[in-house]
Amino acid sequence: MYRKTFSILTRNLIGFGNKTKHTCERIIQCLSLSMIIVALGLFISLLFFPGAKVKWANGHANSSNLFHAQNLTHLCCTDVSDKPWEYIVIHHSATNKGNAARFDYYHREKRKWEHGLAYHFVIGNGSFSGDGEIEVGNRWKKQIHGAHTANVACNRVAIGICLVGDFENADVPTENQIESLVRLIQYLSRKYNIASSNILQHKQVHQKCTACPGKNFPFAEIKTRLLQIASKRNNLIQEL
Ligand SMILES: [Zn+2]
Repeated sequence: MYRKTFSILTRNLIGFGNKTKHTCERIIQCLSLSMIIVALGLFISLLFFPGAKVKWANGHANSSNLFHAQNLTHLCCTDVSDKPWEYIVIHHSATNKGNAARFDYYHREKRKWEHGLAYHFVIGNGSFSGDGEIEVGNRWKKQIHGAHTANVACNRVAIGICLVGDFENADVPTENQIESLVRLIQYLSRKYNIASSNILQHKQVHQKCTACPGKNFPFAEIKTRLLQIASKRNNLIQEL
């Protein structure tokens, strides 16, 4: 467009020069003016050029506290009537990265599990989903038993929550993951009347030996936070 504008202006200027026999000085002045117009056009186009926009790594915005506003009532709604869940079992993915879709693919295609993703919920660490983002699995939507422990009886009554990370080795859960986990457990345990003693780490379920969710997983801190929330709530109820 600018090249075209430039050539039109130049042609006009030459014609103008031939017809009126203006001095070279006049032509140079006009050429300078057109150069300024082209430069201005380029500057304006750079301002709005899409390539100039910043893109976040992995397509995710900086997610600090972003997912704490997730509406759990909306997020946890199901397509069918609720099952009478009795336990919550916490896992780690034992991988540094991941999200619900990637685990679903692995469980469905590699492990050949008909219902795919073994867990009901996955909490991201910022690698392939947001840091602290709660993803809901198909098993939860359809209220299907989990496949997250080797204990079939447990899987029928236990909600499986997996945090992305390898907490047995170098990783620790992010603060956002912990906050989202506490919020989710608090919501689910209230909704299904699940006792604090029924909130377990995978390794506490009697089955094949496992370290899940890993030695770096701050289970005591999570139980403390849950107790604090429960006592605050009880105090509020008593005050009413
Ligand atoms: Zn596990």
